[in-house]
Amino acid sequence: MADKIKMNTPLVEMDGDEMTRIIWKMIKDILILPYVDLNTEYYDLGLVHRNETDDKVTFDSAEATKKYGVAVKCATITPNAARMPEYNLKEMWKSPNGTIRAILDGTVFRAPIIVKGITPYIPTWTKPITIARHAYGDVYKNTEMQVAEGSKCELVCTDKDGNETRQLIHDFENSSGIIQGLHNVDKSIASFARCCFNYALDTKQDLWFATKDTISKKYDHRFKDIFAEIFETEYKEKFDNANIEYFYTLIDDAVARVIRSNGGYIWACKNYDGDVMSDMVATAYGSLAMMTSVLVSPDGIYEYEAAHGTVQRHYYKHLKGEETSTNSVATIFAWSGALRKRGELDGNDELIHYADMLEKATIDTIESGIMTGDLYLLSNLENKKKVNTEQFLIEVNKTLKNLM
Ligand code: NAP
Ligand code: MG
Repeated sequence: MADKIKMNTPLVEMDGDEMTRIIWKMIKDILILPYVDLNTEYYDLGLVHRNETDDKVTFDSAEATKKYGVAVKCATITPNAARMPEYNLKEMWKSPNGTIRAILDGTVFRAPIIVKGITPYIPTWTKPITIARHAYGDVYKNTEMQVAEGSKCELVCTDKDGNETRQLIHDFENSSGIIQGLHNVDKSIASFARCCFNYALDTKQDLWFATKDTISKKYDHRFKDIFAEIFETEYKEKFDNANIEYFYTLIDDAVARVIRSNGGYIWACKNYDGDVMSDMVATAYGSLAMMTSVLVSPDGIYEYEAAHGTVQRHYYKHLKGEETSTNSVATIFAWSGALRKRGELDGNDELIHYADMLEKATIDTIESGIMTGDLYLLSNLENKKKVNTEQFLIEVNKTLKNLM
């Protein structure tokens, strides 16, 4: 075989937890290191090491991502009460994904990997639908109250000079009730818009955005206006040149069009819409284990990962010495996505080609009938065969060898 592919610039590598940590090492050993002279700056975001470093390692890994521009991340545990004794934690450390997203000010794009033999629940969805969720504000940062009958509720805004503006929400004359205060900030909406426009250009897909601006004439309308203004001044020409479209519509119209569509576009969603729709879309395509995820910052920094978690249940089986059949596809695609982006930024065609072939080998292997248990249950291929976690990677490598 020819020399291994060289990498001039490092990639930030964020290791993680449980079953995905096991898979992480297998992917490197079986599918990457035989072909690539891998150049990474390694950060261990496994919970043990996060706890040892008082979570400093998470912050350091995000800063390194800013420096190098591309990262690949393994799934990590977000601690809850049960993890405190399990890992003897000093604190209930925050979600690494939340920390990294806040530092990079990024938007998460989720897209399914489509293979023959697994038909989406909506069979006309022959191309992926990528969902971008605005991850700031609205109902996720709300203030709410139950109010007693006879109360009068107002919105009060005090400006920097102390002047008050008041507006009636509701007079609860005849009944008790509930109220809720929401907010968002122009800066965050603008970042979200730029992330979406950049990612549309990057992946050469149309961008759809929808809100309820006819009902919410100030709040949702502000989202619509910010998107429109940034598009006109910064992106229209680039979109024309790339032959892609920015399309705005009402959220109910968008939902109806999505169902009738063939996919192949990015759907930008407000926070709540994105929360709900991403679960619907992921389920419709078949398996969470086939969902990729990339965090993109408004200034073009990329962090790739699988959308699923650490697959804890499989890990406990693995620890007991039982055989597992865990799907590594989304984690393989996190690596291929990051290596391709590294190749694009560095003008490294060999690395880009390797990333393309790694993805092709993975898909070809599944389409030839060799797959892990989760897909085996879904696939309608006739000669399908279920393999274990490691066997799957060995089979992908057999296919990859022939492609390289
Ligand atoms: P999960 O790891 O996504 O797994 C949930 C279930 O989905 C699994 O038990 C398995 O079902 C199925 N599944 C998910 N990925 C699979 C794969 N690659 N192959 C085969 N089956 C797969 O979610 P969780 O169990 O709720 O969370 C476990 C840990 O992950 C938690 O500590 C959570 O904090 C963390 N988490 C991290 C991230 C991240 O880092 N991005 C995201 C989500 C969750 P069966 O058991 O039925 O086979
Ligand atoms: Mg959700």
